[in-house]
Amino acid sequence: MSARILSGNAIRDQIYAELAGEISSLAAAGIKPGLAAVLVGDNPASKVYVNSKIAACGKLGLASFHITPPATISTGELLGIIEDLNARDDVDGILVQLPLPSQIDSKKVLEAVDPAKDVDGFHPMNVGHLVAGRPGLVACTPAGVMEILRRSNVPIEGANAVVLGRSDIVGKPQALLLLHASATVTIAHSKTKDLKDVVRRADIVVAAIGRPAMVTPDYVRPGATVIDVGINRINDAKLAENFFANFPERLAEFQKKGTAIVGDVHPDVASVAGAFTPVPGGVGPLTIAMLMSNTVKAARMRRGSRAPLAASSRT
Ligand code: NDP
Repeated sequence: MSARILSGNAIRDQIYAELAGEISSLAAAGIKPGLAAVLVGDNPASKVYVNSKIAACGKLGLASFHITPPATISTGELLGIIEDLNARDDVDGILVQLPLPSQIDSKKVLEAVDPAKDVDGFHPMNVGHLVAGRPGLVACTPAGVMEILRRSNVPIEGANAVVLGRSDIVGKPQALLLLHASATVTIAHSKTKDLKDVVRRADIVVAAIGRPAMVTPDYVRPGATVIDVGINRINDAKLAENFFANFPERLAEFQKKGTAIVGDVHPDVASVAGAFTPVPGGVGPLTIAMLMSNTVKAARMRRGSRAPLAASSRT
């Protein structure tokens, strides 16, 4: 078990310390960056995510606005809420927590968010900026993965990177960010042939598939860096016994609680990888950190001409 653990919590704290300077220079000009979180209905997992995003705003001194329409809301009504938030000067970032109820046209809603306030980076205009390598608001989870790699001094230029998963919110933007950082990128998905062999060629693996512990040690080239984006809740004792056979503390915790969170990467990969992110405590904290960073960036881009630039934001 010699692999280096890439702690997302430590990197998040670094990023928060850097943001603090920028937030106080905006405050000196009377600007308090504000994030509006729209949580439709009462999906328990979504509630947990939104609460942690709002808590992070409080910790950093950002304003937050929690909008909680009922699950029965129509697309038209939700578009009305977005329109109001677009118009408010005290709202710099708008996040619409996914998934939305099935009667809602999610694409229409995400496209209604003002691109300048699109702190999740999902609007086609920001996606276009990412494709073209132009400045814009970038999806938080893949941006967080890049922070982990860079701040942990993992070489990216020229590396073979395999992104497992091709979703709009993780896999595709992740592949583009790695490409812009000059990795040689392969995107793998459920139709990829000889998946194991493809993944085994990677110097860097980013797993974002939503399949608990699917990436077992035989997928990983010894010494590779493995970034685990997956967040999967398991309640099955048999699965837990398999995943945590070599991690008695985690097994004991599962037996106590009857549930555990695991990534898309099997915990035993730690015995093969050169470096890996744990779940929990790896990519998750960075997703929220990048949301905070995007909110401050959006405030600076939209209202920043009213504030002196902080030293950290001049680049
Ligand atoms: P999606 O379900 O949108 O996408 C999953 C992708 O994985 C698809 O491209 C799918 O391929 C691919 N895939 C599924 N099964 C397999 C398989 N057996 N072999 C190869 N490829 C497969 O998921 P997301 O991208 O939204 O999320 C992925 C994971 O990351 C989830 O566990 C999610 O909870 C987690 N997540 C974590 C975040 C964090 O903050 N840490 C933030 C966002 C997500 P195909 O396209 O062919 O169907």
